[in-house]
Amino acid sequence: MTKKRTFKSALSEHQGVNDPEMTDQSSIDSIKSKRLVLPTTKDLVTGILNGNITDLSRAITLIESQNPDHLQRAEAIINQCLPHANESIRIGITGVPGVGKSTFIEAFGKHLTSEGKKVAVLAIDPSSTITKGSILGDKTRMEDLVKDKNAFIRPSPAANSLGGVARKTRETIILCEAAGFDTIIIETVGVGQSETAVHSMVDFFLLLKLAGAGDELQGIKRGIMEMADTIAINKADGDNLKAAKLAKVEFGRALHLYPSKDSKWQPRVVICSAYENTGIIEIWKIIEEYGSSMKTSNFFYKKRKEQNKYWLMQTIEERLRANFFNNKAIKMELKNQLLLIEENKTTPFAAAEKLLNL
Ligand code: GDP
Repeated sequence: MTKKRTFKSALSEHQGVNDPEMTDQSSIDSIKSKRLVLPTTKDLVTGILNGNITDLSRAITLIESQNPDHLQRAEAIINQCLPHANESIRIGITGVPGVGKSTFIEAFGKHLTSEGKKVAVLAIDPSSTITKGSILGDKTRMEDLVKDKNAFIRPSPAANSLGGVARKTRETIILCEAAGFDTIIIETVGVGQSETAVHSMVDFFLLLKLAGAGDELQGIKRGIMEMADTIAINKADGDNLKAAKLAKVEFGRALHLYPSKDSKWQPRVVICSAYENTGIIEIWKIIEEYGSSMKTSNFFYKKRKEQNKYWLMQTIEERLRANFFNNKAIKMELKNQLLLIEENKTTPFAAAEKLLNL
């Protein structure tokens, strides 16, 4: 007779472990309830104003939530933080994936915290709205800076439009400033519309470029170059150094051909390397010089006011659009009108008129 084989499947289950006897239900309930109960709006605001990072993170989570109750709370928190939210410099940093943004921001951020600054790094990542994945968020980034108690790093919020991401980021800036962060870095990938969004919420715009990547001046989107207050040729180390110096001269020449900015600021071109920690201090000095000269000329405040007006219009547009498309009657009629267009039974204008009249 053959011996019966005992077959151990990888799918078999072990018997579970019983709860230890000393765990009493009331302490479990107490832990659970603590997890569920968020501090009151007032407590969160107090926490934020005292620089409490946990409260700051909780409030940002409310901003990023889709739940209408959370959004209402977020609005109340933002309103109460607003009066405390202006003493900062907001810096936008852009560049194509791989240009070295996170490595640069880590070195730059460490330099700033060593000077006693409090640095918040926020990201606007257009890819997160399309693929739900993220170009900026999928690698371990800024490991050192994350551990720095004077730095706060928050990845791009998930939202279904770039406008949504931008609005949430803007609101997050206000909370970070209220929490005492005096240097706000907004990072974005230089591959789409997101630079414009970032440009409209920062004081200073830094473009990271690589040298020797082929026809230096042709491949660049003119619009982004025009937005830049400084262009930094990154990875200017080792074999790259010579090419970086050359690119610096070429970019400098190209920038002179552009019309002068409203700020009257003449954009700079520098070379830098996070690996060798070169150019980092120089870039910070340029930003400081920019800040003080723009404050003297009043352009700094004028620009922020213009940005606020822009964001007012953006917010209204976004709300109107959301209200319109979320309306039940409109949703139904829209389907109907799309069908009529498909069958050539109406014109787009007549269809729009009908929907708008609803
Ligand atoms: P990001 O996609 O723009 O955030 O780029 P990363 O910071 O992730 O850097 C992309 C690659 O460039 C990584 O392999 C880095 O190690 C490398 N890198 C970053 N900074 C430097 C630098 O200053 N010099 C050199 N040679 N390489 C760098």
